[in-house]
Amino acid sequence: MSLLNTAPEMAITTRVDDLLNWTRKSSVWYMMFGLACCAIEMMQTGGPRADLERFGMAPRATPRVSDVLIVSGTLTLKMALRTKVLYDQMPAPKYVVSMGSCANCGGLFQLAYSVCDGVDKVIPVDVYVPGCPPRPEALTEGLVKLQAKIQRERWLVRAPETA
Ligand code: SF4
Repeated sequence: MSLLNTAPEMAITTRVDDLLNWTRKSSVWYMMFGLACCAIEMMQTGGPRADLERFGMAPRATPRVSDVLIVSGTLTLKMALRTKVLYDQMPAPKYVVSMGSCANCGGLFQLAYSVCDGVDKVIPVDVYVPGCPPRPEALTEGLVKLQAKIQRERWLVRAPETA
């Protein structure tokens, strides 16, 4: 007897949090925010070779419908302000992936007067992807780690009350 034939009689138990997180992590929509050379690798990651869509991830052109902001490249102080505006426009729950040395810490240009030495100086970062530039495989791994983080989140469990 095939699994399909027995499926109507099967019962699956899980926690609501696990079910919700499973659906959320399986449809992560990302916004690409390319600022320098790392952006080329980021765009490649969204293409058919790396094929992020096999993980349920799809690119979006506006922060208002995006779950994840991928910041790749050198973040100047001027763009840091715009990055904060974009982040604020995203609906919660929202996540940030910092891609490459420049986004992580300023990289080669961290001592320049016009460069912000890390995206996390402006907005909270969930996953850091190292490299100069990181390969598409590295960004893919970072996004899969983000999926694992989403799966562990707890929304319905109340924190214990303190006396
Ligand atoms: S980390 Fe390297 S490849 Fe990426 S933006 Fe900086 S200099 Fe360019």
